[in-house]
Amino acid sequence: MTKRKVLVADKLSEEGINILQKELEVEVKTGLKEDELVKIIKNYDALIVRSATKVTRRIIENSYLKVIGRAGVGVDNIDVDAATERGILVVNAPFSNTIAACELTLGLMFSLVRNIPQANQSIKEGKWEKNKFLGLELYKKTLGVIGLGRIGKEVAIRAKGLGMNVVGYDPYIAKSTAAQIKIKMANLDELLKVSDIITLHTPLTKDTYHLIDFREFEIMKKGVYIINCARGGIINERALYDNLINQKVAGCALDVFENEPPEDNPLLKLPNVIATPHIGASTKEAQKMVSIEIAEEVIKALKG
Ligand code: NAD
Repeated sequence: MTKRKVLVADKLSEEGINILQKELEVEVKTGLKEDELVKIIKNYDALIVRSATKVTRRIIENSYLKVIGRAGVGVDNIDVDAATERGILVVNAPFSNTIAACELTLGLMFSLVRNIPQANQSIKEGKWEKNKFLGLELYKKTLGVIGLGRIGKEVAIRAKGLGMNVVGYDPYIAKSTAAQIKIKMANLDELLKVSDIITLHTPLTKDTYHLIDFREFEIMKKGVYIINCARGGIINERALYDNLINQKVAGCALDVFENEPPEDNPLLKLPNVIATPHIGASTKEAQKMVSIEIAEEVIKALKG
């Protein structure tokens, strides 16, 4: 019997490729543009992407795909409505990135309050600006965690270990989850009012698009710090920029942007913004696990 064909359109670790090859004919072609994908997609039963490839309605409607696999959590780079209309399953690998994204969030939180990237830059420029980099301690500060799913929950647990007060907002989780990790739950406005640092861990959906907008910044404490390791569109970048300029927000750390790569995004010109190029999932462990998880999910979906 001829094997079904899978196109791997973004980089995937070899552990996952090996699993796919046992059951399927695998072709790896990365960096394809939409037009190129439209031309070749009818040859495949399955497509696997990470975040670089945007799986548009045009690609989907020119395909005979049975399944689209996203090697990661968020499926916002896939037109899920278009896939559903054609009966194409969309599967993801939600469990592999959790610790990687959580640990990057913590790294950015320490970097923010102690100005580590700015101090590093300064000393490499030959300066010794001891007085410029007066930081804050995390101990006893209040961390607001918006979205208490896999990543948010791990961040909350570790923040408590650092002696922080943790307040969570997530309208969809069971009360028992918050009780289990012993954090206070609040509504969004209460969280914004009391937090010294706010970290975002929701998916990007129609409901969470610009969840943090001009109104929300108004409610926040002066001198608040913001971390976004989830998805760019959750914060209105224009509102964030204005509130960094007027010093309502003391600093922010971004791993994700409304447009990626962010190119000439004015946020990157501000000294109190630290940024990383969407590396939340970029650990050796996560990349290996994500490739295995998505390979198994795609094979399972093809077998029905
Ligand atoms: P998850 O689905 O386990 O958790 C998301 C949580 O957000 C859920 O508990 C859900 O109830 C909550 N939520 C949904 N809508 C909400 C709203 N309007 N207000 C408050 N809470 C809301 O997802 P996860 O695995 O924890 O991932 C969280 C985010 O991190 C996703 O956006 C994901 O794409 C992103 N992520 C980014 C990277 C990176 O490289 N930076 C890596 C992994 C995950």
